[in-house]
Amino acid sequence: MTTQTANKTRTVARLVRGLPTSDGAGVRLNRVIGTQALPDVDPFLMLDEFRSDDPKAYIAGFPEHPHRGFETITYMLAGRMRHKDTRGNEGLLGPGDVQWMTTARGLQHSEMPEQQDGLMQGFQLWLNLPAKEKMLDPVYKDIPAATIPVIAGDGHTIKLIAGRQSGVTGPIASPTTKPYVADVVLTKGEVTLDIPDGHAGFAYVYDGAVDIAGTRVERAQAAVLAGEGALTLTAPGEEARVLVVSGYPLKEPVVRHGPFVMNTVAEIHEAIRDYQRGLFD
Ligand code: MN
Repeated sequence: MTTQTANKTRTVARLVRGLPTSDGAGVRLNRVIGTQALPDVDPFLMLDEFRSDDPKAYIAGFPEHPHRGFETITYMLAGRMRHKDTRGNEGLLGPGDVQWMTTARGLQHSEMPEQQDGLMQGFQLWLNLPAKEKMLDPVYKDIPAATIPVIAGDGHTIKLIAGRQSGVTGPIASPTTKPYVADVVLTKGEVTLDIPDGHAGFAYVYDGAVDIAGTRVERAQAAVLAGEGALTLTAPGEEARVLVVSGYPLKEPVVRHGPFVMNTVAEIHEAIRDYQRGLFD
């Protein structure tokens, strides 16, 4: 059984640049999704890129804060970050590690740099949950770099965080959105990524440049994908690094209030009340 449509390929619906912003206690980051220009790519609510060797840009971290209604995926490329949450989970994320947290009905956590200087680089992605999964129990998973499959080909490697690629399954799944998340390094030729039909998604180029169906995508640009079928990235001559992310859209109403993402305003009010009553502790 194949989930791709033969002879169809993904194209670029639009190109978007991230917006420099700050969050947490003053961490400077590049918000690629979750801006006025690109509020979401259903089912993805946010993509933040952090990348700085200036400690002032990251040292304050993200002290304790709540979440409800979605999943957070943190992928470290360089540096160390310590996570602690109110359910007793604790983990140290190092280069190449992933943390996947299904916040569901809620918890509080902190995400603090465990370094005084040097490069801190990585991503945080927010993946929405369907209404029927928003109030389930939270789930927390640390995925060490060594357990994430790397698929090597001629001129490329694919580090598969979620989804299926070339017969390999990534370590993380979500039952409704069934996301595909891959970190792709492309040095020459082209690489075809097995994005299922029906997925919506984007490719974020964080180093170099690639071509997608004839559209050049430069560093720090996200290509929001159109069409169906697989996604082919072509190297225009320099090494490229691309975060490729897709999933089944939820097509549900989205009401956001900071760290809470629900379907209705009443549910946001309930989240705020629950937080004030200490139900996230
Ligand atoms: Mn958080």
